[in-house]
Formats: sequence, structure tokens, C-alpha cells
Amino acid sequence: MKTCDLFVIGGGSGGVRAARLAAAQGARVVLAEKTALGGTCVNVGCVPKKLFFYAAGFSAEAALAPYFGWSEFAAGAMDWPTLRENKNREILRLNGVYERTLKDAGVHIVNGAARLTAKKIVHIGDEIYQAEKVLLAMGGAPFMASIPGKELAVCSDDMFHLSVLPKQAVIIGGGYIALEFAGILSGLGVQTTLCYRAELPLRGFDETLRRHTAAEMTKRGIILRPQTAPESIEKTANGARRLYFDNDEMMTTALVLMATGRKPQTRGLAEAGVILRKNGMVEADENYETAVPGVFAIGDLLQTPALTPVATAEAGVFVARVFGGDKTARLDYENIPTAVFCRPPLATVGMSEEAAKARGFKTKTYLSRYRPLRHTLANDKAQTLMKLVVDAECGKVVGAHMVGEDAGEIIQGLAIAIRLGATKDDFDSTIGVHPSNAEEFVTMR
Ligand code: NDP
Repeated sequence: MKTCDLFVIGGGSGGVRAARLAAAQGARVVLAEKTALGGTCVNVGCVPKKLFFYAAGFSAEAALAPYFGWSEFAAGAMDWPTLRENKNREILRLNGVYERTLKDAGVHIVNGAARLTAKKIVHIGDEIYQAEKVLLAMGGAPFMASIPGKELAVCSDDMFHLSVLPKQAVIIGGGYIALEFAGILSGLGVQTTLCYRAELPLRGFDETLRRHTAAEMTKRGIILRPQTAPESIEKTANGARRLYFDNDEMMTTALVLMATGRKPQTRGLAEAGVILRKNGMVEADENYETAVPGVFAIGDLLQTPALTPVATAEAGVFVARVFGGDKTARLDYENIPTAVFCRPPLATVGMSEEAAKARGFKTKTYLSRYRPLRHTLANDKAQTLMKLVVDAECGKVVGAHMVGEDAGEIIQGLAIAIRLGATKDDFDSTIGVHPSNAEEFVTMR
């Protein structure tokens, strides 16, 4: 039996950071990854998605270009294999960067599916490790709604490796992944229909932002089918997919993307003594320690926001507390900013108006909806939305929301202000950057 101080299962954003930081503290660290280093974020998530998001943006640029005098700028044909292979090359490069970073830090990498089999005992292939500490960082995987014919649909992982780009696609779901792929596919020229079971997409986000997003997606040619849930999928004689919905609608399409959520990868953990919540998430305390002493969990296994920066921050707190002796290290889960890279993108930090009211705040809201300068020459109908939610009693800004170009970039700065407790007066006394979209946040009256 081999030994180590820390055995990390999973080489995604959280696992890699924890391994690297623990090794820097002098720990003997082993990290096991069954596929490629970098996890969901690098291989089938944030990074390739953002590259596809950029690719999809060129068609909108081409539509605007003639109004700025660029007559030769018309959108040409989309060569999907070029995009896919260039993306693959970049991901391979990043896999190599992760490997080098880990090796340089002194982490021993093992390839394969590691299993926690008993208290701090990990099996991988023919090898058995007795670890001082084990960190579970296996992340999540796409969850497909269990309807007859679901195997005829693809999941988000598959979208990064499609052999051909379809002419039409139906996307099921109204969350991050569904909206992001709706923007990507339609931007790449695919006739895209988005079906979700609620009245509006993006449950949990501010309602004004949800409505505005749905309206802007429609303006960009995405067909929205609210209150539509799939019941079954069939393959037609010519290989197309036929979808049947609970409202008796039927659709035939070339590709069905099921973007109905993600589930933590917890197989075998309960047998090893780890307690799981009803929804399948791992139960852990403020040290991220599970029900098995010495076994910890971070990232998408936990009931915390399933976002890469949250997983990497949890990795930092775990190492500071467990290897650095800093029991004060903790992560503040309030005011975590987030962006959905749909078209147009949206971003948010803090509370929605509905959440603030539900928490007993007396709210005052400020709203700005306008046509951005970039769209004036084309005289198109694109509109940007910004909204501030303010605690009417003390004047603090408790939520900032935006739908429009560069929303993610703009909200990141506001997240710092909101964390520091900025009031609406602070926003108002800040000089704007002119002309910009961002300045609208400091000129709303
Ligand atoms: P989400 O939880 O965001 O959305 C899942 C969607 O699927 C919801 O609209 C849900 O509907 C719907 N759904 C669930 N089950 C069914 C069903 N049986 N039939 C029909 N619809 C169903 O999950 P995603 O997979 O999109 O993303 C997972 C997480 O990954 C996100 O929550 C986010 O934390 C993270 N992520 C972050 C990104 C970013 O930072 N940009 C990008 C992508 C993912 P309903 O709301 O009605 O329940």
C-alpha cells in the first residue's frame, strides 16, 4: 500500500488548485484524473464554450458592419471543423499547462478512475493508497431528463465534438447551458428553438432580467417555446429527431440538446460512508469535511454555486484551513457574481428584486433600458438593460443586473463595490467612463 498526505480525486479547477497549494505547503500530494486535466471548465465547459461564444458573435458583427461602411464584411460560410479543431488544439495546450503546473509543484499525477473505498483508502487500478487526507473533487456531469428516447438527444459534453453542425436544433431547458448554446448555435447559423417548462427562462434570476433576456433572444432569431416540456423523442425514417411535448406539440429537428441540469459524480461515496443530501449533493461542514473524518469535498459535489471560481476559492480555503493551520479562512457565499454567456450576455451580482423582498428588504429599484450606441447606425431593435436593487432604508446597493454587451466584464467591477457595501449615493458620485455602457450604472436616477 502506498501512502501520501493528500489524495485528490478529480483534476478539475478545484482539485488541481487544492493539489498545487497543498504541495506548496510541503504535503506529499497525489492527484487522480480519469479523463483530461482541467475538468469540465477546461474540456467541456467554460473555456470551449467561451471560444464558441466568440465564434458565434461574428455573424452579428457582419450584420452591423455594412452600416459602418464595411461592404465586404458579409458573413461567409461557417466552417465548423475549423472552429472545432482550433478549439481542440487550444484545449490540448491547456491540458499540458495544467499537467506542467502540477508537476512543477511536485504533485504526483495518476491517470484513472480513483475510488474511495474505506476511510481514507483510495483504489486506483491495481494500486491502493492510504492517505492522511482525501479530497473529493470529481465535479458534476450532465443530467438528461428521463424520458423515452433520451438517448437520441445529445448533452452539453457532446456539443463540443459534433461531427457536423446541424441545420436546425431544439434545446430543452431554460438554464445557463440551454441559453448559452441557444446563442452559440443561432450565431453559427443554426435555426434554433429553445423549449423550457416555465413561463420564463433562468429560474432564480431577477424577473425583469429574465423577461428582457427572452425578448432579446427572440429579436436575434431564436424561437422560444415557454411552458413546453418534452415527453418523448423518436428517430424518423430519415434520421431526424421527432419530439413530443406535454402540450401535444410535436417538432422535428436535426439535433436535440438536452440541457436539463447537472448532477454531482458521487458513485460509490455513500458505500464508503460519505453522507449525501436528498438531492445527491455531498454533505460537508465548514472545513468541507464530509461525514468520513479526513475526507473532504469541494466544488460541484457540494450544494454551493456550481461555478469554477467558487470551486477554486473552496480549494484555497480547504488548503488554508487543513494544511495552512488558518482556521479563520472562509468563503463568503454572498454576492457571488455570475454571467450567462447567451446572446446578448447577461450578468448579475447580489439579490434579485424578488429575493430582496422575500428577505424582508424594503427595496427601491432603478432601471435603464436603451439602445446601445453600437446599434444606432443599423437602427436595429437591440436593447441593453441595467437594473439596480437598493435597500431603501440604508441606501446600500444589494443587487446589480445587466443584459447586454460585456455584461460579465462590467458586473465584475460592480461586485467589488457591492461587497464593500457601496450605496446608491456612492454610485451616483462616481464619474462615468464616457461613452460606455458601464457608465449607465452610475447615471441612473
Ligand atoms: P440549470 O440548473 O441552470 O438549468 C437546468 C434547466 O433544466 C432548468 O431550466 C430546468 O427547469 C430544466 N429542467 C430540469 N429538469 C427538466 C425536465 N425534466 N424537463 C424539462 N426541463 C428540465 O442547469 P445547467 O445544466 O444549465 O447548468 C448547471 C450549472 O452549471 C448552472 O446552474 C451553473 O451553476 C453552472 N454553469 C455555469 C455557467 C457560467 O458560469 N456561465 C455556464 C454553464 C453552467 P426549471 O428551472 O423549470 O427547473
